[in-house]
Amino acid sequence: QPVIQLRDIEKVYQTKTIETVALNRVNLTINKGEFVSIMGPSGCGKSTLLSIMGLLDEPTGGTIALDGRPVQSYSDKELASLRNHKIGFVFQSYHLINDLSVLDNVELPLLYRPGVGGKERRERAYAALEKVGLGARTNHFPSQLSGGQRQRVAIARALAGRPEIILADEPTGNLDSVMGEEIMDLLLGLNRQEGTTIVMVTHDEQQALKTQRLIRFFDGSQVS
Ligand code: ADP
Ligand code: ADP
Repeated sequence: QPVIQLRDIEKVYQTKTIETVALNRVNLTINKGEFVSIMGPSGCGKSTLLSIMGLLDEPTGGTIALDGRPVQSYSDKELASLRNHKIGFVFQSYHLINDLSVLDNVELPLLYRPGVGGKERRERAYAALEKVGLGARTNHFPSQLSGGQRQRVAIARALAGRPEIILADEPTGNLDSVMGEEIMDLLLGLNRQEGTTIVMVTHDEQQALKTQRLIRFFDGSQVS
């Protein structure tokens, strides 16, 4: 069943002098449990698409439905909750906080979650770090880890929130091929074993071919 439906999505960035059409009438449905990859040249709108799917940014046209319900019909409070609980983000550059330990980085998003106390927060963070194979590194700091390990911390941070959907923007873009493959295997495992829906932007065709569906973008539109 559909978890994210985009209908005629348009995104125009307007600055004083230039207007950029980042997305041009995109129609796309992501179904529950799918692992979809998105490829396309730099600037074709992939990051914008993920931000819109993750409700971090609003389209300038078109409609989005989550779980079959249009986002306009959710209250602001419900939307904030969806953004925090339903969706986990993973970025190319990890976005970890360097002066927090691995464990504290993973716990951080749960600090603002109502109903999750300190004990549960810690348990969830440990469990997520175990899952990504970093159970022995909880007291390390990001600077003491390899790129692949840092990305695994970022994935653990997303997992601690128990998201139904992971949106990953070039998660292996800063990694060598061996570490990239590790991260890819981790994502494939989450998808297969836990049924997490994943949408991943990538420049790596080999990785994209391992996912269930490959969508190609060009100049703000889907081309295949
Ligand atoms: P991709 O992720 O495929 O590299 P982006 O979604 O980042 O593409 O960008 C799509 C287009 O929108 C590009 O032309 C980019 O320069 C432009 N763009 C992205 N974000 C902004 C912004 N905040 N303001 C103005 N233009 C933007
Ligand atoms: P990444 O490749 O790590 O996904 P980018 O380097 O493409 O990210 O973009 C970083 C940020 O800058 C994004 O949030 C994007 O929206 C914004 N951005 C991209 N292009 C432009 C632009 N032309 N003007 C303003 N902001 C932009």
